[in-house]
Amino acid sequence: MIRVAVAIVIGLILPARAFGQADTLGTSIATPRWAAHVSIASANALLSGVTAGLTQELRGGSFRDGFTRGALGGVVIYGGKRIASESFAGAGFLGREVAAVGTSIVRNASDGIGTFDRIVLPLGVTRLYWDRRPTHRSLLKVDAVAFGWMIYGIIEPELTFNTERSFSAGVPVFQTNGKLIDTRNEEHPAGVAQPGVIFLSDVKPWGDAFLQRTFAHERIHMLQFDQIFLTLNEPHDDRALKLLPYGRTINRWVDINLSETLVSLLSNVFETHGDRPWELEAKYMTR
Ligand SMILES: [Zn+2]
Repeated sequence: MIRVAVAIVIGLILPARAFGQADTLGTSIATPRWAAHVSIASANALLSGVTAGLTQELRGGSFRDGFTRGALGGVVIYGGKRIASESFAGAGFLGREVAAVGTSIVRNASDGIGTFDRIVLPLGVTRLYWDRRPTHRSLLKVDAVAFGWMIYGIIEPELTFNTERSFSAGVPVFQTNGKLIDTRNEEHPAGVAQPGVIFLSDVKPWGDAFLQRTFAHERIHMLQFDQIFLTLNEPHDDRALKLLPYGRTINRWVDINLSETLVSLLSNVFETHGDRPWELEAKYMTR
């Protein structure tokens, strides 16, 4: 609960207004590009630093140690997002893994363990928990929510799997053929990211450049889900699951990923879609 509160507080202090008014997918923003990037890097460092600092302190550790290492992890996450927003083949996958190293640093700082003791790498709809400590073992877990969305993408007749984009993004990518995806997101139905899966509306008259930018935008959202999951959701999901019958066995193989639920809850704080910090970040990273 405290962590949710922290996320809300940080969300509120993000320089949303300093970014200026953004329209659909950020095509007419006057703020200098470097200023936006400094803001985004700082926000990632601050959010990660405060999260790790408070979490470590609550566990009897040091706020200062958590904050310092958490902030470092936040800068690495920013670097990953920067890579994921590039247009080369595999940018999404590479950026996702770089950001995941940053997120792992934040989580390790929260847990008060060595900076690189445990690296959690998302691989498609699975996650490798690479534990480098001698007494711990590494795990490969399936993300139940991502897996569910992937199955939906496969069985929904209006969607087709895009192999090239999926390899490039490192997550399954499904596209419509000339139709709009019906989402709750009124501002850009051109695409939607769920944890572990991307859906795109392939509407030819919009042009390829628009589709490319939408794809990059959703890749940033993907990294945000990874970041939220590992730093805010995973510790609680783990604990909750262990209370259920067979929970320990399930927990060995499966992640219950509630990051989208957390994002939906936070969405209530920001009435206007375009004012949401994660939306601003995705827009600015891909403009
Ligand atoms: Zn968006």
